[in-house]
Amino acid sequence: MPLTELIIDGFKSFAEKTRIKFDTGITGIVGPNGSGKSNITEAIRWVMGESSAKSLRGSNMKDVIFAGSEFRKPASHAEVSMIFDNYKRELNFDEDQVIISRRILRSGDNEYLINKRNVRQKDIRALFLDSGISQDSLAIISQGRVDQILNSHPEDRRGLFEEAAGILHFKKQKEEARVQLEQTTDNLVRINDLVKELE
Ligand code: ATP
Repeated sequence: MPLTELIIDGFKSFAEKTRIKFDTGITGIVGPNGSGKSNITEAIRWVMGESSAKSLRGSNMKDVIFAGSEFRKPASHAEVSMIFDNYKRELNFDEDQVIISRRILRSGDNEYLINKRNVRQKDIRALFLDSGISQDSLAIISQGRVDQILNSHPEDRRGLFEEAAGILHFKKQKEEARVQLEQTTDNLVRINDLVKELE
């Protein structure tokens, strides 16, 4: 499902509502140091559910809100939206266009939306499960991430390959089935005990 547009409003250095359109093929974003290139990938990770302010180079999640400049007052909120073309129904959502958004207010209130309807963060995670896009997937490799991946624990590295291969979803289902099986086994033991007591 192609990402067609990213809308950033009040997020970090993006004081004004900014639309970045992605055509087919490769899009390159160039700019001088400190012009906000990394803030774009951080905006993507944030809307996908990033919960660590530190990994977004802040100390508090509210730090993502435009802090103001000499000529402009601080923003009251930050909002980021990603627009996907879902014509081929590659996302499990029955609409041609899927817009996922996240908004944070200065009060710290934070909300997620899918096609302008409020959802939970886990709904966004579920929608993108196995799509290869998530806040910590290999689809986004930020500065220093290559070293981090190379030096990571083998188990963690395997997780990255599993996500890329699209088997994370099945692993989750397997774990759910295992828990159900355990509960059923416990129930059987209890039933057997009861039967013995009644005999
Ligand atoms: P480089 O090429 O050096 O890696 P870059 O183009 O990736 O730079 P970023 O790191 O994305 O640039 O942007 C850094 C800029 O974002 C800094 O000027 C910083 O002041 C600004 N910035 C970060 N957070 C905020 C915020 N909350 N409000 C306003 N500006 C912010």
